[in-house]
Amino acid sequence: MWKFGERTHFIGELQDLPEGERVRIAGWVYRKSELGGVVFIRLRDSTGVVQVVVKEGEVGQDDLERARDAGIEASLVVEGRVRRDPRSPTGVELLASSIKMVGPSHDFPIKPDSGEEFLLDNRHLHLRTTKMRNALLIRREVMRAVEEWFITNGFVRVEGPTFVGAAVEGGATLFEVPYFNRKAYLTQSSQFYLEAAIFAFENVYTIQPSFRAEKSRTRRHLTEFWHAEAEMAWADLNGMMDVVESLLKYVSQKVVERAGHVLEALGRRFEPLEGDFPRITYDEALDIAKRKGASIEWGEDFGTEVERAISLEFDLPVFVTHYPKQAKAFYHKPDPERPEVVLCADLLAPEGIGEIVGGGQRIESEEELLRRIREEGLNPSDYKWYIDLRRYGSVPHSGFGLGIERTIRWIAGLPHIRDAIPFPRTPTRLYP
Ligand code: ATP
Ligand code: MG
Repeated sequence: MWKFGERTHFIGELQDLPEGERVRIAGWVYRKSELGGVVFIRLRDSTGVVQVVVKEGEVGQDDLERARDAGIEASLVVEGRVRRDPRSPTGVELLASSIKMVGPSHDFPIKPDSGEEFLLDNRHLHLRTTKMRNALLIRREVMRAVEEWFITNGFVRVEGPTFVGAAVEGGATLFEVPYFNRKAYLTQSSQFYLEAAIFAFENVYTIQPSFRAEKSRTRRHLTEFWHAEAEMAWADLNGMMDVVESLLKYVSQKVVERAGHVLEALGRRFEPLEGDFPRITYDEALDIAKRKGASIEWGEDFGTEVERAISLEFDLPVFVTHYPKQAKAFYHKPDPERPEVVLCADLLAPEGIGEIVGGGQRIESEEELLRRIREEGLNPSDYKWYIDLRRYGSVPHSGFGLGIERTIRWIAGLPHIRDAIPFPRTPTRLYP
């Protein structure tokens, strides 16, 4: 790791050093106490925490005063000698010989009993706490593994624009923004742009934010979320599900391999996914939901509670395929053998988490696409270029979108999606 400033070591490196080694470390005051005139500072950097012992005789009077004055989260540079101490969790502590105060801190507002809303208002400070750091370290590994899977499998990254002219997921959740003397919208999905790119690269993906004006406040909706999307030329519904399954198995394996200790610190038991993901139809899922007491009719989309009930029946993520066409967007390809359902699949994560991936096979014929656009009461002129893609060597193709924060919430076992992103955006939250 890059070392900046005056430090000679990261705190995480101290445990490998011999007794008496002279070092200079830098970090933030995590805890502090005083006993018999000796100040004990637990100092934190990005690699760990170490106890610093500040004692008269070992340091000058000024240094001792500085240590006494250091508030929680004050930043310090400490010089001292390593002491092997079997009672310490890492086996070492530091006997200070000098203390430099870099950035004082008074009355750090985050307290063990701070309430949820207060913590959200202070997310800029809450980020440095153990809980948030651990959640975001899982995020880092999920992001990294998703990107790695696409790269190693030969997918080409193609980003869609953020300003768009028309809806992908329906008008109800569009964010409108002024665009000179016109209206633009924030993108809900890059799917259409990725569909254009398959004709250049065949298998493409992106990882970027999507925006949806979700009015319903739930534990799994943000207004700005990170969306990993892929489109594959020549792929059918099964091919799409194979991609999703392989991707998620890889992500689960890498997160456990690289951040198993972080999951443990979060109190989360999570094993790499093994075995085939079950694939059931909407009709079968509906039977399960009804058997468990849900009042839902054929044709309706599954809400949070119904998805929860279905996902609790399985130990692995489960694909639910062949939804009624009225429950899905116009671009899904109707099943030629049963035109009232479409060739789509949602992936429901276990433990009641529900949908983390939505995808399916897209309509490849211009005629059928126009029919579906009209059937939905939409205006073909809003989708001009999207329809155009069906005119020049159209091919069967499929794709999907995976919600990064929903995936993190599930893997890390977080109660709410907002803790899966550093600065969450919800209908009521635009600060910090
Ligand atoms: P839901 O019905 O739960 O709102 P959706 O059907 O609108 O989801 P898709 O349009 O299929 O979702 O989007 C693909 C994926 O993007 C979803 O499976 C989910 O993981 C993620 N996603 C969608 N909307 C949100 C949101 N508001 N916040 C976080 N993630 C989201
Ligand atoms: Mg939605």
